[in-house]
Amino acid sequence: MENTSTYKAVQAVAPGRLELVRMPVRDPGPGEVRIRVEACGVCHSDAGTVEGTFPIEWPRVPGHEAVGRIDALGAHVQGWAIGQRVGVGFLGGSCGHCDYCREGDLVNCRNQLFTGIHRDGGYAERLITRASGLMSIPDDLSSVDAAPLLCAGLTTFGALRSSPAKPGDLVAVLGIGGLGHLGVQYARHMGFEVAAIARGAEKAELAKKLGAHHYIDNAASNPADALQALGGAKVILITASGGKTVAETFKGLRPGGLSVIVGVSPDPIEISGEDLIFGTRKLAGALTGDPETGDATLRFSALSGVSAMIETVPLEKAADAYAKMMAGKAQLRMVLTMDVEGNPPVRGSMS
Ligand SMILES: [Zn+2]
Ligand SMILES: [Zn+2]
Repeated sequence: MENTSTYKAVQAVAPGRLELVRMPVRDPGPGEVRIRVEACGVCHSDAGTVEGTFPIEWPRVPGHEAVGRIDALGAHVQGWAIGQRVGVGFLGGSCGHCDYCREGDLVNCRNQLFTGIHRDGGYAERLITRASGLMSIPDDLSSVDAAPLLCAGLTTFGALRSSPAKPGDLVAVLGIGGLGHLGVQYARHMGFEVAAIARGAEKAELAKKLGAHHYIDNAASNPADALQALGGAKVILITASGGKTVAETFKGLRPGGLSVIVGVSPDPIEISGEDLIFGTRKLAGALTGDPETGDATLRFSALSGVSAMIETVPLEKAADAYAKMMAGKAQLRMVLTMDVEGNPPVRGSMS
């Protein structure tokens, strides 16, 4: 018989160490919901929790690409129902009363709780989170397929949707990994001319398969020159980390163009004032998105058929999945699955 007073969770206990435990089921507080998690993506930012590069109080359950069904509502929660399928991303819910919230900037809320950092995340069978951060999962997206869209998808979709690029403009996506392979697909389906930039000739085929019109091998050619030969990019979406790659593509922007960084890296970026001023180019960062942008990401993905390349792993093997992602061997997003009805059989090599 299922034990309903405790649930399985995988928590970080020390740098690089994940451990499977049982936790007592708790009731959600005011404004919160409890979710029975069905799937949770493994994201590179989970390293912030597991390696402790974010300020973390261990033990802490990582995971901020969680999908599941609401199984309990806290006091004063409106607009959500028990049994509804929802998603929880990195931003665990805005407060609604700080000056940024009052300005409508929910992403930068001063009291935002980061999922898996300030509170336990989705490497678990249950998750308690603020209702204000929930995203709504369309019926035609499975929980496994929806999971990576809550961070990797939202980040790339949101950055492109709020960028100055219009249909027909040249948009470059730097990097074809966990983020970039979604970025290329979104850019294609948004109606842009898409150039994918990565290292090595062997990525060309994948880039074309994802919908890129052009492939630029930045090991073999100067990516800025290659973009200028195509007329110059209106937007460069930087999904790879590393300050050098950002700087070396920057001159590939056309006048008024924007380089937007979504791949987190501590590297400084060396760009001259000249390159910013002549051509009035811009360099910016983007942090995931608010829940409305999350809803739009999920709907757009379902409508256009954009999906992540996914390898699924049972929750119990979270440490193996995390290690594979950290080693750069994931193909291309790992998703942890929980033992619930409706989840597909395990996909990929780790079954
Ligand atoms: Zn993430
Ligand atoms: Zn706030």
